[in-house]
Amino acid sequence: MGPPRGNSAEPVCRTGVEVMTTGQDVKVFLCAPDSERSCFGCCPPIRPAHYDPLDWVGSLKREFRDNRRAFRQPSPPGRPIVGFSCWALGYLDAQGRRIGCLLHPCQNGGRDLRDRVGYGSKCAREQCLASRVFSSLKAGEQRFWLELAHGLNAFYYSSRRANPLFHVLLWGKRVLGAFSSLAASRGWSATELVWRYPFLVDPKRAPRAWRYLAQMLLESAPAPPPNEGLEGALNHLAQGAEAFFRERFPGQGGAEAVFVHQAGLGQSLADFVRLHLGCHRAPLPFLRDLQDHVRWRAQRLRGAASPGSGRWMARQGSHGTDG
Ligand code: SF4
Ligand code: SF4
Repeated sequence: MGPPRGNSAEPVCRTGVEVMTTGQDVKVFLCAPDSERSCFGCCPPIRPAHYDPLDWVGSLKREFRDNRRAFRQPSPPGRPIVGFSCWALGYLDAQGRRIGCLLHPCQNGGRDLRDRVGYGSKCAREQCLASRVFSSLKAGEQRFWLELAHGLNAFYYSSRRANPLFHVLLWGKRVLGAFSSLAASRGWSATELVWRYPFLVDPKRAPRAWRYLAQMLLESAPAPPPNEGLEGALNHLAQGAEAFFRERFPGQGGAEAVFVHQAGLGQSLADFVRLHLGCHRAPLPFLRDLQDHVRWRAQRLRGAASPGSGRWMARQGSHGTDG
């Protein structure tokens, strides 16, 4: 028994470091995509906010060495996790290249020993958003985006600061799919793509706050326009949505008010309203009107496109014709 593979809807891998075969159509796990890279970024599951393993490399190296040694003793430890470190997180190979869960089924002939730490199913269930998005990509798309983390050792690969995949993947399946298709048609690597489209890795443009707008602009577009035009259109669309919100938002009370993430209008719209507009509760009819308004504006911006001009939508923004 190993962690689920391929198109399974189940949570996957998470530090077990199962190395998949290298067939072209085999999907892999973000937690351990190949024999070189492994992630332990969410172990143990309860940690201080903003914890990053890169801040603790020296002490973690000692800890991982000690944990591996203790686990290989005739009577390995078996106690609950104490504090923010787990005795089962350690080096998985003698060279200290791969770091992961010593109790994972992949390390124990299929036997899942993770209940020994007292977190029960939480260890098996935990999966970060980047990993969930990665699992939803096609095999070829996974290989394409993984190039951004080429050469990172386990500490850098596990760091949200150092590993660009933890940022880029939050743009979601649809936006990533549009850009990997564009790169395939132009023969670009992922590194070349983000050099040409720097907004994809810009820390000031949080993907979850902008993803909905990007989806609306790229929907039905033959291909993403050049970066300048796309960024101009994103900003223009955001300004329009913000103005609509300022002028029309009726308040978060009333019988028709719902929590935005429970409105049933999709995760991307919910993230945009919560993280971009700062609204967590709103009347459902208002949310539907906002959705229609953004879609209408995005259509107009796409309609103004002049493919290949480099001024795709920025030109529309400067005219301000759809106020
Ligand atoms: S942080 Fe994400 S990619 Fe890393 S081990 Fe956890 S689930 Fe896997
Ligand atoms: S038992 Fe394994 S999965 Fe759970 S926190 Fe420890 S190292 Fe991570």
